[in-house]
Amino acid sequence: MISPEEALHLVLAYAEVRPSAELPVMKAMGMVLAEPITVDRDNPPFPRAMMDGYAVPFGAEGKSLAVVGEAMAGHDRDITVTDNSCVEIMTGACCPIGAYAVVAREDAHPGASGIRMPGHILAGQNIASPGSECHTGEVVLRPGDRVTPLAVGVLASLGKMTVRVIRPVRLAIVTTGSELITANEVPAGTRIRDSNGPMLWAMARVAGVARTRSIHAKDDRESIVETLQRTVDRDIVLMSGGVSAGRYDCVPAALAEVGAEVIFHKVSQKPGKPLLFARRGQQLIFGLPGNPLSCHFCFHRYAAPAIRTMQGMPPSGTAIIAQLAGPLQSEPDRAYFVPGWLENRFPEDRVLRVHPRPARSSADIFHPCQANCYIELAPGGSEVPAGCRVSVTPLNAANC
Ligand code: AMP
Ligand code: MG
Repeated sequence: MISPEEALHLVLAYAEVRPSAELPVMKAMGMVLAEPITVDRDNPPFPRAMMDGYAVPFGAEGKSLAVVGEAMAGHDRDITVTDNSCVEIMTGACCPIGAYAVVAREDAHPGASGIRMPGHILAGQNIASPGSECHTGEVVLRPGDRVTPLAVGVLASLGKMTVRVIRPVRLAIVTTGSELITANEVPAGTRIRDSNGPMLWAMARVAGVARTRSIHAKDDRESIVETLQRTVDRDIVLMSGGVSAGRYDCVPAALAEVGAEVIFHKVSQKPGKPLLFARRGQQLIFGLPGNPLSCHFCFHRYAAPAIRTMQGMPPSGTAIIAQLAGPLQSEPDRAYFVPGWLENRFPEDRVLRVHPRPARSSADIFHPCQANCYIELAPGGSEVPAGCRVSVTPLNAANC
């Protein structure tokens, strides 16, 4: 059985960056740029007033100046300031010809003989000179940069309506299990509601996947083969359930029938030991265990980094070292990943603390439902006392 590190290494070795596509900027939000973004004109394009106040000529210190006009944002530059005069100016307006500085309204004092200026005025104060933010032809965003809200602002200022980005992963979620019904149904007898399907869909959304197809298959090989045939156009197929050793765990046989190559099956970890990883041509297939916490953990640890890599992002956020707030027991022969709650503030000693939120079993997502991280314990079968430093991976946009 391979270790979690080997498993992640293999997954990432098969995760290739998707091709790029030209998308409307609003649809590209959160995606990764595949082209450099070049500035179309100097910014600001004119000497821009950065304060409401008065545009003054050289030598205005301490003088009372007559107001000879008004400059408003968006108006043409048609006024001139000369000696002993000034122009009332608004933030964003183009400074009049002859303006040496802009004196803020609160620093100037209206009087009988005009507006009295302060004793000190610096050359160019409160004026953003043309090109001081960026120059024509300058590259401000590069391939690999994320389309963040700030980047959307930049793209809009540059007049870019569409942008070339790495296209997001196309995903299929295949739930297996003849016992499953949907969340809006009332379970009779031993039926249970499908929680993995919606949970995986939600995690995929956090990982930046826009297009997901969800299909349910019964616990027989034909049903699973049929769903696998309907998902050939997807970059990744997430399968839930049916990968353990039971008689009705038909996923491995169905994968063999559709010609998928199994890269590994079973990882030395708790939860998520039955995890299977396969590929069919370029497509990656994750056989996630059906137990909900195992399913969640395996997506967090393996599928999310693959999705992120394929979308041109770093595979995951970095692990954090935190101090264990309560004792834990490591597993004798496999890595143990315990849900935890990482404090969001540094206490006085500047050491982040993590509170274990252990599950009752690999099926239990209720005890850990407020977890915001996984704590990783190396194999050893020993007590890990409170106060120990442990490695923690947060559940966030970078790690789901
Ligand atoms: P399996 O991996 O198919 O053997 O399933 C292991 C356990 O997880 C069983 O108790 C299943 O009923 C449960 N399970 C499987 N799939 C789901 C699902 N989509 N939602 C909730 N529980 C599930
Ligand atoms: Mg099952």
